Amino acid sequence: MGEKRLAAFDIGGTSIKLAFLTTEGEIIRKWSIPTDRTDNGSRIVTDIARSFYKELEIDGLTTANVLAAGVGAPGPADPIEGTISGAVNIGWPNGYPLKKLLEEAIELPVFIENDANCAALGEMWKGAGSGATDVVCVTLGTGVGGGVVSKGMIITGVNGSAGEIGHITVMPENGFYCNCGKHGCLETVASATGIVNLYKQQGKDAPDARTVFQHAAAGDKAAQYAIDRCAFYLGLAIGNIANIVNPAKIVVGGGVSEAGETLLKPLKEYVGHFTFPRAMDVLTIEKAQLGNDAGVIGAAYLAKVMSVS
Ligand code: ZN
Repeated sequence: MGEKRLAAFDIGGTSIKLAFLTTEGEIIRKWSIPTDRTDNGSRIVTDIARSFYKELEIDGLTTANVLAAGVGAPGPADPIEGTISGAVNIGWPNGYPLKKLLEEAIELPVFIENDANCAALGEMWKGAGSGATDVVCVTLGTGVGGGVVSKGMIITGVNGSAGEIGHITVMPENGFYCNCGKHGCLETVASATGIVNLYKQQGKDAPDARTVFQHAAAGDKAAQYAIDRCAFYLGLAIGNIANIVNPAKIVVGGGVSEAGETLLKPLKEYVGHFTFPRAMDVLTIEKAQLGNDAGVIGAAYLAKVMSVS
């Protein structure tokens, strides 16, 4: 039997991605199971444990062959208490003791982190950030997620709410209402729904961001303006983050980033405009590379780093 492997679980609202990885971050095998949200998500831990043991057995292995498990979960993670809060998609109560429950179920050290932070660690380790230890990840999807990695470690803050890039205020006046309860958050202008918000603001309408991008490509001035504003607000937020943490790379991922240069080109210009020149000297903006694997790769990184420290 060779080197021990890492286990990684990425818990989402509809499915849970599971994987075994080498300690170098190569995926040995990955699979997924549905997320059972009944009874406030109380069966999720048991489901993960059952699936984990089954797949270990297929490989003729036991928990003795696994170093540790890393887990990404939707909601701020308390790194000391090992709890998850705000996982409303799943039904868990605030302060859900995920680390303790999973450690009992799989009899291994378990390290938990917010899913967006795991994705940032994944991109840092094996994706677009490869080689850099100071990386900021911004995921533009239904909402805007983020993670800030400094010197190889995720910045978590006191109660796990550091790196909530989507809730940086970019429209201090007359901003759109955000699900977090504030107004003018980045998420209200730079997510898929945010781009539609900006388009509607000009008296137009579109069912989704993809349509706004299509209209822009066809010459629709309002659509082009909406995309420009999205890039402007995103550039403003990224510039301010860059001034605080001085990263080598900003990695932009998520569905909206599939628009490619249409968004990235103006974004790079605005980031240049809003970033302190010396911080800008070392900064590059890249598209995320790992897609859906970022979460499990980052969770494995967490397991590797935390279990040796
Ligand atoms: Zn918000």
